[in-house]
Amino acid sequence: MIALTAGWATDVGRVRAANEDACFVGSRIVAVADGMGGHAAGEVASRLAVEAMRALDEAPGDLDAEAFGQAIADANAAIVQHGRQHRRTAGMGTTLCGVGMVGGPAASELCVFNIGDSRVYRLAEGTLRRASIDHSEVEELQSAGLITADEARTHPLRNIVTRCLGMARGAEPDASVVSAVPGDRWVLCSDGLNGELTDAEIAEIVGAHPDPQQAADALVAAAVEAGGRDNVTVIVADVTDAAG
Ligand code: CA
Repeated sequence: MIALTAGWATDVGRVRAANEDACFVGSRIVAVADGMGGHAAGEVASRLAVEAMRALDEAPGDLDAEAFGQAIADANAAIVQHGRQHRRTAGMGTTLCGVGMVGGPAASELCVFNIGDSRVYRLAEGTLRRASIDHSEVEELQSAGLITADEARTHPLRNIVTRCLGMARGAEPDASVVSAVPGDRWVLCSDGLNGELTDAEIAEIVGAHPDPQQAADALVAAAVEAGGRDNVTVIVADVTDAAG
């Protein structure tokens, strides 16, 4: 029997007037959302996205990959609907990424999902690797070999996402089911983290703090220290063996 032991931190940063990120840490799901849209609409969109994750976390019964897909589709519908009912928020959107336990009390698998450019990293056997692909212009440029990872962090198109929740069409998340390995650490973040820190810098901080709350605090503090040009939100979730 496994469990997720998580810490989280968020900061408005040094430039933005408001924090449009949202995050959720539940008993079996952790998720980060990065809202976008003027007049505080981004805050509404990211909150609707994480509330859908809360509803799923609190739903009775075991979760499977289809349940995650349905909850994400529900979140998208709620955001589109809200935009139709409140013109002030029309056109708002949000990223969403997360990790959640699949199956019952003996769950040994995790659903890893993302839409937009909020990221999921996995620290396994001492190595931090990205577990999600950004849906963004710069990710496409980078995978085509046109720019480097360093250039992507400062590129003029770095804030353009190619998929997000809040679109009437094309709000398709990526989702996969992977083994839940006790000892693994999952790191979720909005682009305010990876926009300021390289993957190597993130890995160093993640590896330096055994406590997930301290790791999350240190990551957010480092991103703010490095410039804090965007809202930054981080969840660090350790897979633990709840029976042992
Ligand atoms: Ca952002």
